[in-house]
This record gives sequence, C-alpha cells and structure tokens, in this order.
Amino acid sequence: MDKMERRLLLKSLGAFSLGAVSSALSKGEDLAAPYKLKKSKLETDVLIVGGGTAGVIAAIQAGRAGVRTTIIESGSQLGGTTTTGGVVFPGIFHAWGKQIIAGIGWELVHDCVQLDGGELPNFSIIPNNTTVRHWRHQVSVNGPLYALLAEEKCTDAGVSIRYYETPIEINFTDGRWVVKTIGKGIEAEIICKQIIDCTGNAYAASLAGYDLLREADTQPGSLIFRIGGYDYESLDLDKIPEKYHGKLRQNMIISEKSANPDGTFPPNVPYGYVYVPSADSTTAESHTLANMQGRTNLLELLRELRTYPGCGKIRILDLKTETAVRETYRIDGEYKVTHGDYVEGRVFDDSISHSFYPIDLHREGKSIYQEFLKEDVVACIPLRALIPKGSSNFLVAGRCVSSDRLANSALRVQASCMGMGQAAGAAAALACMKQKTPLKLPVKEVQLLIEEHGGIVPR
Ligand SMILES: Cc1cc2nc3c(=O)[nH]c(=O)nc-3n(C[C@H](O)[C@H](O)[C@H](O)COP(=O)(O)OP(=O)(O)OC[C@H]3O[C@@H](n4cnc5c(N)ncnc54)[C@H](O)[C@@H]3O)c2cc1C
Repeated sequence: MDKMERRLLLKSLGAFSLGAVSSALSKGEDLAAPYKLKKSKLETDVLIVGGGTAGVIAAIQAGRAGVRTTIIESGSQLGGTTTTGGVVFPGIFHAWGKQIIAGIGWELVHDCVQLDGGELPNFSIIPNNTTVRHWRHQVSVNGPLYALLAEEKCTDAGVSIRYYETPIEINFTDGRWVVKTIGKGIEAEIICKQIIDCTGNAYAASLAGYDLLREADTQPGSLIFRIGGYDYESLDLDKIPEKYHGKLRQNMIISEKSANPDGTFPPNVPYGYVYVPSADSTTAESHTLANMQGRTNLLELLRELRTYPGCGKIRILDLKTETAVRETYRIDGEYKVTHGDYVEGRVFDDSISHSFYPIDLHREGKSIYQEFLKEDVVACIPLRALIPKGSSNFLVAGRCVSSDRLANSALRVQASCMGMGQAAGAAAALACMKQKTPLKLPVKEVQLLIEEHGGIVPR
C-alpha cells in the first residue's frame, strides 16, 4: 500500500468511527470561547509564601490559632525539599537523650511514620559522633505520604491552599500587604495582615524590598535518585568504591552480607545523590538550569556505571523531579545567628525553638566541612532572626533565616525549619490578634502559644 492509499484508508476509518459514535459523545467538537485569564481579589489574615518544610508547619500553626490563613506554593504538592526534593529524612528532633523539637512538625513526621507502618530510630542512644553518627536520629519518612498528610492537616486547620502560584509584587499600603500573584490561568490580588516567607530563598522578602545575604560561592545542590539491578557476583568491589564514592557522595562499601541485586545500588544506602554546583531555586530560570544540570550529571553517571563489571543492567528506579537546593539567599534580620552562638548553644530572651545538627558545609570538589556540637550543647533560634531588619508585619521561616554561613549550614535542617515554621505561624497569628508587628509582641505570649500547640521553647 503506498502512502496516499494509507492516508485515504486512515481518513475513511476516522470518518467511519466518528460517524459510529453517538452524538452525545461527539460534543467535544463544539467551539468554546477562548479562555480568559481569571482575575480575583481575596483577603486573608496570614499569607504564607512557599508550602515546603517550614511553610506547611507555619500554615497549620496559624490556622489552628484561629486566623484566616492562605498558603501559595509554586509547585504541585506540599513538603518542598522533604517531598519534591526527596530529602525524606528529617532531622534532628532529639539531642543528648531527650526531645528538643516537638510540636506540629513532630506530629506530622510521627503520624507519617505510623501510617506507613515504619519505625522511629532509638533516640535513647546518644550519638558520639564516631560510632553512632548524628544522622541515625533522622527519621525516615515516606515522601508521597508526607505530602498527603501535610495537605490533610492544612485543610483540617482551615488553611486555603493555592498551588501553581507565585507573587510578582508585594507592597505595604495603608497598614496591610497587597500581594499580586500569577499562576496557571490566574492572576490574583491577595490582601493580608502578615506575610511569612517560607520560599527557602527569601524570595518574598526580596520582592517586599528587604536586604538579603548571599555568599559569592554557594553550596552545591543534589539531585536525588535510586538506581538498582546489579549482579553482585560480577562486581569489581575495589574499583567501584574508588571511582564512585566521590561522585555519589555515598558510602559505596558493598559486602556479601549487604548485597541485594534486586534492591538499590549501592545496597547499604537507600538513595543516590549527584552534586549540582551552585544550584539555585530562586527563579524559574535558575531552577530550570539546576534541574537540567542534575539530570545531565545523572545520565552521565548512569552511562559510565553501566560500563562496569556487574553493572551492565543498572537502571533508574526512582528520580526526584527537582534538584534539592542547600543554599541561596538569607534575610538580613533583626538578629543574625552566628557560628559562635550555634556551637556554644547561646540561649536568647526571645528564643523560640532549638536547632541541633553539626555545622555541615558542602563544598564542591572537597570534603564536607563538619563541626560536631560538644556534649549537652543544643543551639537556639531567636524570634528576631525570623524578622527582616526594619520590617513590619513580615516574618520568614526555614533555611532563609538570618544567620551567618556556618550557622546556616546547621540551622537549615528540617526539624529546625519546622520549629521556625511553628514559631513564625504563632507570631503571625498573635500579631493579627493584637494588631502589632511581630517585633513588638510580648515574646512570652509567642512562646506560650507555641507551647500550647506542643512546641518546645528553649528556656
Ligand atoms: C541534598 C540535601 C540534603 C539534605 N539533607 C538533610 C538531612 O539529611 N536532614 C535534614 O534534616 N535536612 C537536610 N537537608 C536540609 C533541608 O532539607 C532543607 O534545608 C529544608 O528542607 C529547607 O526547608 P524550607 O522550608 O526552608 O524550604 P523548602 O522545603 O525548600 O520549601 C520551599 C517551598 O517554597 C516553594 N517556593 C519557592 N519559591 C516560591 C515562589 N516564588 N512562590 C511560591 N512558592 C515558592 C517551593 O516550591 C517549596 O515548596 C538537606 C538539603 C539538601 C538540599
């Protein structure tokens, strides 16, 4: 059959099948008027920009405290780096044998482990930084389930969730914020009393005109994946660890005991990482670049791995849709938490949450710079570090907290971000009720509200 006959046959088949369907099913042929951008104007008390690790907790706290709360998230699900980025091991809620961060973040993590039939680590074992490393106290969560529960808890707290949306203008006019946003097919003007920037990049703070901090050279991001399907018997155990330890940034020690050809490669670590130099998720352009660079690096790794004995059938089992980002912008706040404050465990009058992690600075091409906290030391975060210098009615929570670079390398971990999220949610809610800016609130009342909702305030 030549091309022309083939085309005629397909055409006649199409005509036949269309003629054969009922008129009710063929209604899609009706013309629709062109879709018009939907414009809306809404009001809320607290607006949270970014529904990630910190933003979810801030929203639930504000909602549960009884104020109208709205969250806008540029992605399609809640959880940010915990879910979309694939860092499904939030830490650290316990230090030196006791719980130091609890409240809404812990509730979400705990509920997720329970519903998933998982297990919590044994927190009574005290890390000694040599044989029992700090990360053993991180909690392994099921990422997709975490996103579902986060959405359910936000909804139950009365939070209005708006996905696929981002602010393009933020102005303070007549004692309230006017936030212009755009999203898929929509344009909105959101009027609110308090803003909490939980974008991880201080993006909303920047739009509102506040100064930011940023290093000339930032830590690399990582694209997270799982690969599997190797033949243990044919692996060259000396060559692979030597070649790939640096690239995957994982412990490649594979032994007969740990071998599991149907599982992940290497078998002793659940996830693989490829580094993405200077990854930045602040803008659509920089985030596109970070995602594409991560994918290119992974393809290169996969192709190379496949040339190795025993790895000829290695394949991708799971790949996160976004490169997870460690460091971009931070706010220049009313207080900047320093490396000294962190490693000495300084307690502030306005402490609102603990933080516990080693100083942990990733450096491209070099080993991670780590400093472990001395026994019984637990760091604290003051409320002032969540408030941009000179701002009114504005807070941040998460990794864009005001801090120097080394302090930030520890403050950025998830339990700490959740602690900050709860504190920012409580402060914003109280600020609405008392009609005051967060800096002018009686700190004791913010601390009490956090405690009423299960949080732990350093004293
Ligand atoms: C590779 C890697 C490994 C890590 N390992 C650990 C670990 O082992 N343990 C640990 O506890 N922590 C770890 N961390 C750190 C921790 O995961 C993050 O620092 C933390 O999750 C950041 O939380 P966040 O709320 O500040 O930001 P995110 O969780 O990133 O949330 C930001 C949210 O804001 C949204 N957003 C951004 N911009 C906009 C915008 N313009 N408009 C609307 N929405 C926007 C994003 O889509 C996202 O949902 C790791 C981080 C990385 C990158």
